[in-house]
Amino acid sequence: MWKAIKKIFNWLLDVIYPPFCLRCGRMGEYVCERCYSHLDFTLADNLVPLLFAAGEPVYVQDIRALLVYDPLVKKILHHYKYLGVRDLSSMLAYWLYQFGHFEADVITFIPIHQKRFRERGYNQSLLIAKELSRLSGIPCQQLLRRSVHRQKQALSKDKAERLQKTKNIFTPVASPLDRECRILLVDDVVTSGATLNEAARVLHAQGFNHISALALAHGD
Ligand SMILES: [Zn+2]
Repeated sequence: MWKAIKKIFNWLLDVIYPPFCLRCGRMGEYVCERCYSHLDFTLADNLVPLLFAAGEPVYVQDIRALLVYDPLVKKILHHYKYLGVRDLSSMLAYWLYQFGHFEADVITFIPIHQKRFRERGYNQSLLIAKELSRLSGIPCQQLLRRSVHRQKQALSKDKAERLQKTKNIFTPVASPLDRECRILLVDDVVTSGATLNEAARVLHAQGFNHISALALAHGD
């Protein structure tokens, strides 16, 4: 019943405010067919060797990103995260699904702090994880909670400072999951990989050993 109401509501919303292409402005889709070809999809290489120095403790085995974080992708994610265009999640999750570089038993996501959730009204990574779960049939579960709220974390460029700022920002959510299951962490943008690695560290401390990550974009 609720799903049907939601569907009708979304349809009405599309009639009143039809989506328009964020690159060329054409009505119909958030990224039209022509502009889709301008998206810079990255190769499927594992980013772990690129992001972490040898000898550094790394808890996430594999990090893949779908797109280069270029101006068009920045614009899409800005609309998605800061301008309330939450239904972009379907398109973004579908792109991730098509990309297909994930093998997992459980999908989870990088949580946002309660304060940020209240401001935004949704967690951008959770919506994508849920949609990816629906498309792939892999269950989605919350395994982490964000315990620390930090302002403008992405703006600190210094690696050591950024590492320090990501320390202890997550607490685990109790889960009866088999510790041998393969966990896929979903996030929006990977910069230094520090946040993903910290999330993986907390999961690792809970006994999970197979942790990989999938993000929409990679870049500064
Ligand atoms: Zn377009």
